[in-house]
Amino acid sequence: MNMYKVETSSEKETIALAEKLATLLKPGDVITLEGDLGAGKTTFTKGIAKGLGITRTLSSPTFTIIKEYEGRVPLYHMDVYRLEGTEEDIGLEEYFHGNGISVVEWAQFIEDFLPENKLNITIKYKDEMSRVIIFEPIGDYFNQVITELMQ
Ligand code: ADP
Ligand code: MG
Repeated sequence: MNMYKVETSSEKETIALAEKLATLLKPGDVITLEGDLGAGKTTFTKGIAKGLGITRTLSSPTFTIIKEYEGRVPLYHMDVYRLEGTEEDIGLEEYFHGNGISVVEWAQFIEDFLPENKLNITIKYKDEMSRVIIFEPIGDYFNQVITELMQ
């Protein structure tokens, strides 16, 4: 599996990186975001929203599981933390195959419902202002996206 690491040294840099990624994405793409609380998952998603031309303020969907935003392409921001252990199909797949870009926080809790091809991103806290962002593209398409992102 290919892995690409980028270190950012401010919230601004993380947002800029996510914004660039967003310009390379297309409807139906699924991104998973992993990382401890405070790592920067929501911050990264804010950057994606910015890159999709979304002007509404993005807030964490913890209690709603999913929030939709209208942009150049819609954004489906999910926090599936509360679905841990769920075996019931709550219809997330419709979003994954929908017309928007899905960004899933705590995706490990819904592993079985995720599409095969996806972009897994892990954010690691390094120090107060620095984070290591690890991209693991699954499938040819996402490998191409990351190759472009790294240029
Ligand atoms: P999570 O959603 O993973 O719990 P948040 O995005 O809500 O995390 O919070 C990340 C926090 O870390 C924010 O307060 C942000 O300002 C701060 N931060 C500091 N440095 C960075 C960085 N390089 N990248 C992203 N966030 C950073
Ligand atoms: Mg969050």
